[in-house]
Amino acid sequence: MKCFYHMERDASGMCAQCGKAACGECLEDVGGALLCHSCEKLAQQDAAAEHEMRGKKAKKRIQLINFLTIPCVIGAVPLAIAVAAKGGIIGFFGGLVGAVLGIYCVWATIWGLFHVLPWLKHKLSNSSFFIFLTPAGRVILLFATCYLVLIGAILYGVLGGALHQYLHYRQMAMNAT
Ligand SMILES: [Zn+2]
Ligand SMILES: [Zn+2]
Repeated sequence: MKCFYHMERDASGMCAQCGKAACGECLEDVGGALLCHSCEKLAQQDAAAEHEMRGKKAKKRIQLINFLTIPCVIGAVPLAIAVAAKGGIIGFFGGLVGAVLGIYCVWATIWGLFHVLPWLKHKLSNSSFFIFLTPAGRVILLFATCYLVLIGAILYGVLGGALHQYLHYRQMAMNAT
């Protein structure tokens, strides 16, 4: 068999994508798969587009968390002062700790929720329990799901996942131009 791109050369293998026979010069090892150079180019374009899309999504999430966190932080100080006026120095620190915890819960839920939701969706689409097929079962499921996801998201966030997610997405957002 001859190389698809060089009629005069013998093929040394086949492209894993399009199946064309190609010579050693035309085949490239891409992540363990041999691809011909036109498929390799397409794969690179796909990867670049995917990278750009992920970067844009990351940017949106970073903007959302900034949009929610900054007013919370700004609001926390007067809140702590207001509590202090009623409860003295202990009230001040109590208010401050409460405000910080509240902000962290918002923060953790945002990072955790986006992580837990796709996992839950996947789990549900694979389950075939009969109860989910009845309308009442779906309503119960909806409520249970909302609470479970919220609890899962907060736990995930509190256990440190939120910080990891934030740093991960910030890195992707920074890479996006
Ligand atoms: Zn060739
Ligand atoms: Zn190919």
